[in-house]
Amino acid sequence: MSEPKDLSYILTHLGEDRAQYFDAVIPPIVQSAMFAHPNVATMRTRVADEFSSHVYTRGQNPTVEIVAKKIAALEGAEAALMFGSGAAAMAAAALSVLRAGDEVLCVDKPYAWTRTLVKSHLQRFGVNGRLLDARDPAEVEAAITDQTRLIILESPNSLTFEQQDLVAIARIARARGIFTLLDNSFATPLGQSAIELGIDLVAHSATKYLNGHSDVLAGVVAGSEKLIRDLFHGPYMTLGAILSPHDAWLLLRGLRTLPVRLKQIAETTDTVLRYLERHPKVARVHSPWAQSYSQFGLTQQQLRHGSGLLSIELKADRVEQVDQFVDRLDRFLIAASWGGYESLVFPVAGVRNWPSLDFPASVPVGLIRFSIGLESSDVLIADLEQAFQAI
Ligand SMILES: *Cc1c(COP(=O)(O)O)cnc(C)c1O
Repeated sequence: MSEPKDLSYILTHLGEDRAQYFDAVIPPIVQSAMFAHPNVATMRTRVADEFSSHVYTRGQNPTVEIVAKKIAALEGAEAALMFGSGAAAMAAAALSVLRAGDEVLCVDKPYAWTRTLVKSHLQRFGVNGRLLDARDPAEVEAAITDQTRLIILESPNSLTFEQQDLVAIARIARARGIFTLLDNSFATPLGQSAIELGIDLVAHSATKYLNGHSDVLAGVVAGSEKLIRDLFHGPYMTLGAILSPHDAWLLLRGLRTLPVRLKQIAETTDTVLRYLERHPKVARVHSPWAQSYSQFGLTQQQLRHGSGLLSIELKADRVEQVDQFVDRLDRFLIAASWGGYESLVFPVAGVRNWPSLDFPASVPVGLIRFSIGLESSDVLIADLEQAFQAI
């Protein structure tokens, strides 16, 4: 699988028309709600194609467009739209292709709010949602009915890292005119080129690696110009879950260093993973690169490089030992989310009774997820070791 075309050009120059803004190296934050037209005729032309013009910032905004162009190019997609969060991106993408009476098939352990979208919100509008394991493409094929209009994938997922065979599922869906939507947040466009593999719409929580500094919520949907235009004229303009110009500018700043951050994080995570795999107090390590991982063939087929996410299950009889271990950690902040410069720990036991969260029962209650940041592996391993000693 090929790397996105000329990564350096995309991250440093693509979409940046510096002559438009005093040859400034860094683009301005165009903090303007609307754009003025020199005359009525120009206004008429611009509103006729708002997707390609500047009319109102709920539509297109020059600062936001720079980020969208770069992420589309990284994904090898014709176009992309930015959203105020990854959850908004997933929901808008689904709404843009679904109608009442349709059915959506979705992986059974997606991001929690994707699950809530499929299991409760869409049902209210007459869209039946069905969850399935999806590790076997034949299971997906067998689940398809005449009503199936969309297949929602997340490969790998962000807790236990199951993958789907994207080529096989895309082929099955395309042959029947069914849309595919992939949450590609884990891999990033650098790690997995889903459009090239046949997926129609690729979404990200740009809050995670794309921004990488834990200071912005953002989402993106990339795909063909046709699908992205439909999305624009549908849920994008009507729901208005946009990314602000200021947040787009911060995201652009984070995106510049994506390749170096990911390289460093993948290297550190590999060292931490090998340490955890050998540890006598660890019952199981979950990662697409773990020795015990059952889908390593797909890791080699679909993923270009490592990531900073991995989970463990302790050799412990009581959930309280999970609490003790996690509380003991000093260099890992206890927090949801992932993909930033800082290492985090997320114990599933800590969120099991989050009232609004629909957590799949198949995720082990003792699961502890780590998001490895930019600290050195020595520092992180020393911290893990002292916490293991304490239980
Ligand atoms: C965080 C996350 C989301 C949601 O993104 P937000 O930016 O938090 O709305 C969606 N999918 C995955 C895999 C995530 O980790």
